[in-house]
Amino acid sequence: MKPHLWLVTGALVLSLLVPGRVRAGESGAARLVRAPAPPAEAEPLPPPAPVPVPVVNPEQVYTYEQLSIDLARLREQYPGLVQLRSLGRSAFGREIWALGLGTGPAPVLINGAHHGSEWLTANLVAAMADRYALAAATWQTYEGVEVAALLELATIWFVPMVNPDGVTLSQVGLSAFPSNAHADLIRMGGGSSDFTGWKANGQGVDLNRQYPADWAHIVASPAAPAFSHFKGSAPLSAPESGALYDFTLELEPEVVAAYHSAGRVIYWHFHTAPENYERDLAIAEQLSAATGYSLMPVEENPSGGGYKDWFVQALGRPGFTLEIGVYTDGGPLPLSAFAEEWQRNNTVGLLLAQEAIRLRGRRE
Ligand SMILES: [Zn+2]
Repeated sequence: MKPHLWLVTGALVLSLLVPGRVRAGESGAARLVRAPAPPAEAEPLPPPAPVPVPVVNPEQVYTYEQLSIDLARLREQYPGLVQLRSLGRSAFGREIWALGLGTGPAPVLINGAHHGSEWLTANLVAAMADRYALAAATWQTYEGVEVAALLELATIWFVPMVNPDGVTLSQVGLSAFPSNAHADLIRMGGGSSDFTGWKANGQGVDLNRQYPADWAHIVASPAAPAFSHFKGSAPLSAPESGALYDFTLELEPEVVAAYHSAGRVIYWHFHTAPENYERDLAIAEQLSAATGYSLMPVEENPSGGGYKDWFVQALGRPGFTLEIGVYTDGGPLPLSAFAEEWQRNNTVGLLLAQEAIRLRGRRE
């Protein structure tokens, strides 16, 4: 092999072998040592194939802007494996992104950040999409799972940030919003200029109290828009929950998971049909084993309106709410909580994809 070939190959191999996270913005090609020009008579070298690198850095306050950049980059990096679409826009015009990973016929939907202050769940969901995509594209197993083969049978849709306005309010505050909205936002926040605990969307509607699942009987909803708990004037009155509802009906996922915080618990039941009880409990127990989270007991009169409530009741399919992290005072989980929650949850998407394949097979 000629010396310049060794250089290129060596750099590629090195970039594959060097452990640790490679930051977004560096590609394998960019770090190649420039080889001397080949002699005139040699065949011109083809450009080296780009080496996929992790895109999402979840150990940061993960903003809507960063998410938008990262998802576009994932689509670019993994053509044929990743699809990206906007499900619609938030009340303040931010896109509600959905990234589809895989080509399989069994769909799964995993979402995060229905609640603004629970934005660490967006870090988690985006990181899941990124790490699975990297494993599939490089034909590597992830925690023992053959991801590429799995994604020929299932497609996992990730909606990391259902509520980009609420997340932005919690992370950035008023300065990210037009000045003519400030008075309303302050009023809905109870007069405070501290928005870190904001859960609702930008209109003061709690997006996880918006779904048509016994909506009329939701308990403890404020009478007017507020930073938390206001169920809205009607089901799906908020554009964000409406967009996710429409997409879910279009996709018909075999199974869904909605990430929230906090408490390290899993909700899995909502007026579940008796014939689905054992099926759903078995999946919930797998999720519990993977995460170490406890299963919430079945309630006779649960307050509804949640995404998984609606999915379980209306579609008769398994849906789960996973509450990451140790309970705080209602504010966001600290970034330092990410590493452990990631370790607990990093296989959840793969586990649900395996279940989706089984569920689809059973119905056929
Ligand atoms: Zn929540």
